[in-house]
Amino acid sequence: MTANEGSAECFVCRKHRDRGSLMPGGPVAEDDLVLVSHAVTPEALGREGTRAYLGHLIVEPRRHAPGLADLTDMEARSVGLWSTLASRALRDVAGAEHVYAAVIGDAVPHLHVQLTPRFPGTPREYWWTRVKDWPDARRGDAAEIAVLVRKLHAYLAARKD
Ligand SMILES: [Zn+2]
Repeated sequence: MTANEGSAECFVCRKHRDRGSLMPGGPVAEDDLVLVSHAVTPEALGREGTRAYLGHLIVEPRRHAPGLADLTDMEARSVGLWSTLASRALRDVAGAEHVYAAVIGDAVPHLHVQLTPRFPGTPREYWWTRVKDWPDARRGDAAEIAVLVRKLHAYLAARKD
């Protein structure tokens, strides 16, 4: 099986092609190999709820590669670099005190590294896997996500190599 088989139905590939409502505010950052975007609202996925955990970013290779083990060396460098830069933006722009990174991928076989910020004041019992369950967590609809995405994008676009 080649890495691009199955890409026609793949949610991540579709998001990269269509952008629009699947990518509120547009890309946070992108290069030839990788795209960084904000997670969509539950509503955009056809589920209940209009608000998403603010700052939940996704780092994905453009190519339909299932997991970290399937990346080329160049893709791996880019995924790693953007994971760091996007985390820095979450810290410096959004005020995150910590950024969790995870690859789960049980539902969608296209690598997506999930970056989830933890904000100051998050009670200890909500750290890590429950960080998005905290009732007082910052959440936003598509318009509020877009505002944050534009700030993160501007920060990353202005960085010096
Ligand atoms: Zn895909």
